[in-house]
Amino acid sequence: MLKKLWHKMVPQKRKLQKKVLHFSDHHIDAGMLSFAAEKVVTRLQQAGYEAYVVGGAVRDLLLGIEPKDFDVATNATPEEVRKVFRRSRIIGRRFQIVHVMVGPETIEVTTFRGAGKVQQNEHGRIMKDNTYGSMEEDALRRDFTCNALYYDPVHRQIIDFHNGFEDIRAKRLVMIGDAAGRYQEDPVRILRAVRLSGKLGFEVSEETLAPIAECAQRLRHEPVARLFDEIMKLLFSGHARSCLQQFEKLGVAAEIHPLLDALQRAAKGKQPNIVTLSLKNTDERLRADKSVSVGFVLAAVLWPDVNHRWQQRQKSGERSVAALNGAISDLREDMEKGWGVPQRFAATMREIWVLQPQFDNRRGARPFRLLSQERFRAAYDFLILRVQLGEVDQELVDWWTVFQHADEVTRQEMASAAGQPVQQRADQSSDAVGALKKKRRRKPRRKKPVTPAAE
Ligand code: ATP
Ligand code: MG
Repeated sequence: MLKKLWHKMVPQKRKLQKKVLHFSDHHIDAGMLSFAAEKVVTRLQQAGYEAYVVGGAVRDLLLGIEPKDFDVATNATPEEVRKVFRRSRIIGRRFQIVHVMVGPETIEVTTFRGAGKVQQNEHGRIMKDNTYGSMEEDALRRDFTCNALYYDPVHRQIIDFHNGFEDIRAKRLVMIGDAAGRYQEDPVRILRAVRLSGKLGFEVSEETLAPIAECAQRLRHEPVARLFDEIMKLLFSGHARSCLQQFEKLGVAAEIHPLLDALQRAAKGKQPNIVTLSLKNTDERLRADKSVSVGFVLAAVLWPDVNHRWQQRQKSGERSVAALNGAISDLREDMEKGWGVPQRFAATMREIWVLQPQFDNRRGARPFRLLSQERFRAAYDFLILRVQLGEVDQELVDWWTVFQHADEVTRQEMASAAGQPVQQRADQSSDAVGALKKKRRRKPRRKKPVTPAAE
């Protein structure tokens, strides 16, 4: 206890020396390593090069988490790697890497980065970085100690230059080198600190935490596409809600990106809201290995904004559908001003929103038309979220739940008697159905409902 307190009060000087950890120390379950990663490392070593699994994969293996992807680092140059693997290609300009395809898997192979001169702008931001180096230099260039471990599956050894193994054990996120300088070089490391501490439940060390609040302002100057990518990684980490809590805990203020602002506003709200609710669903689905839709989640994140604009327009006299369309196009103008949201996601979001007022139309041919929409299923799932927040009556969702699964005759009955409780409609006489059928000129087309996974 006293020792713990002492360590907390007095930052300890970190003694750094290269450590080699054997199986008896790390106990990595070889079965959790992908076949492709093992094969790439083995083939490179057989060709006479050094090769290791690196980065997040080693960290996750040590934590008993199944890694998302496997990266390999080697002293072979990209051209040399290309020669070893027939199915491979060199990609990237700022720093070349090689994609090696093994069966259905792609392994990213990177040549050790050097400590040589990098090109920086006036804020200390790295602009160009093309030098190769040794494994030790490569480790120095990585962000956190837990991400700088090198695992050799052939000899079952881990090489650790920065005490990463102990930090993982202690669940500590520690920046390699001088934290303030490392955030200046690349401010996105702040978002990585937020995500990794949230996802792994790691405590951010004092030195790593201290410069974050001030350096976070620099994120505003990052290319929006890169910020958007990082926000996506955060939302789909399977731990989105704890990542959101980390923003506040680590002192990353708002106004970095409009999507982050929307997320932070939602996280601060005491009441459950559509954002927290949809992130809870997303976290649960990802942890159960189910698919999730980016467009759907983004539609939820920005819904409070759209909804607010929609209500305002209705208050000033616009009719519901026109008001919603107006609200969406207002937001779209903002989004196109550089939020980095790719067009395909923006389209899905818009479709989900536009369909919302159409659920009120339950008479005649209109419910059939809505059911045949490609985005029906996603819009219906979105409606369920709105019901949970009291924006819409439960009765409406119940009606649509019955309608979409009912046979054709029941559907016709329901559409002719909409407005009556579901129970009653189920007992409708078939005379009414016959009358409705005569009126209808063409048979409604029924499309397969789309799962929310499809964009
Ligand atoms: P994830 O579980 O999300 O894949 P990860 O740590 O593997 O987490 P990647 O983006 O796959 O993240 O990066 C692979 C490795 O590259 C990291 O573990 C880290 O060593 C290094 N890295 C990534 N981004 C940076 C950065 N901005 N600065 C320094 N090193 C980085
Ligand atoms: Mg990774």
